[in-house]
Amino acid sequence: MVDRVYNFSPGPATLPVDVLQQASRDIVNFQETGMGLIELSHRSKEFMAVADNTENLLRELMEIPDNYKVLFLQGGASSQFFMIPMNLLGSGKKATYLNTGTWSKKAIKEAKLFGDIDVPFSSEEQTFNRVPTQDEYSVNADSEYLYFVSNNTIYGTQFPEFPETDKDLISDMSSDILSRKIDVSKFGLIFAGAQKNMGPAGVTVVIIREDLLEKTPENTPTMLTYKTHADKGSMFNTPPCFAIYAVGEVLKWLKKQGGVSAMEKRNIEKANLLYDCIDSTDYYRGHAEKASRSLMNISFNLPNADLEIKFIAEAAKIGLNGLKGHRSIGGCRASIYNAFPKKGVEKLVAFMKEFEASNKG
Ligand SMILES: *Cc1c(COP(=O)(O)O)cnc(C)c1O
Repeated sequence: MVDRVYNFSPGPATLPVDVLQQASRDIVNFQETGMGLIELSHRSKEFMAVADNTENLLRELMEIPDNYKVLFLQGGASSQFFMIPMNLLGSGKKATYLNTGTWSKKAIKEAKLFGDIDVPFSSEEQTFNRVPTQDEYSVNADSEYLYFVSNNTIYGTQFPEFPETDKDLISDMSSDILSRKIDVSKFGLIFAGAQKNMGPAGVTVVIIREDLLEKTPENTPTMLTYKTHADKGSMFNTPPCFAIYAVGEVLKWLKKQGGVSAMEKRNIEKANLLYDCIDSTDYYRGHAEKASRSLMNISFNLPNADLEIKFIAEAAKIGLNGLKGHRSIGGCRASIYNAFPKKGVEKLVAFMKEFEASNKG
């Protein structure tokens, strides 16, 4: 058994150790085939079964309706920033984006290459410390879709409720997919890079309502057209085999834990432990406004930057790793996705109390 630290990394992030151990065996000899998992043809019956299993489990766990396609794509979540407008806007059409952090800002920049982009809400001037409520913005009548980032990984904010709109709703759920129950039928498209809450880097999951596949302009490159991948079950070309396999193993694990509702309950418990600690003192200050707090990424500050450096270094010495905040806001950040154990959060809270007691500014 390896000696594991508690890994608070924002992504790639901690995975269940059982999944890692299973993967280490399968990489060498997959199901007694005498071949390693990453040596199998993507057209072999063994790998086709792996891909089917991953898709079916995702459909089951997220209750994805039949009129949605599930795609396993490459290029990272960031490639969706251009694929979405390229496929759904064509040129000159309109879309609405909510600007709640670095990842929405990057998506807005790309979307502007294709269409007329309206941004009725931005929290940038408050260093993205909140997400909007429904009454703080309106969506243009001629917008094709409304785009938002459900969890802002860097700033530690999350939409507690999703925007209500009669437009197609599009969400970047890279850092909170499968962390809480959602109604997929309210969305036109959901996407997520796997490396935060679902598996290793290398695959991006796209869940898209079938009618949207018909919107893509004729002159779109084949590989960048959603329908290419939808029609071929994500096997138009060689898919990211290992990442698809590993996501499947994480989903098996998730199902064994009781599925998405059980995860949601645990995620609330874990986050509350940390927020209660932050709220019990002025020493730690949470970055996000209370109503916008994320259950996945908790960004916070200490009284000054020197104490933050010391805090991060001392935490690492006792096996609490990856607590440094993103370079754009500094401070500290604890990322506690599905696979992050509650015991690790308890250990962090105990450390925070001790650190405060022995480092009063
Ligand atoms: C990490 C992240 C991305 C970028 O993912 P890549 O796979 O590195 O392109 C996009 N959106 C959100 C919300 C993220 O957390």
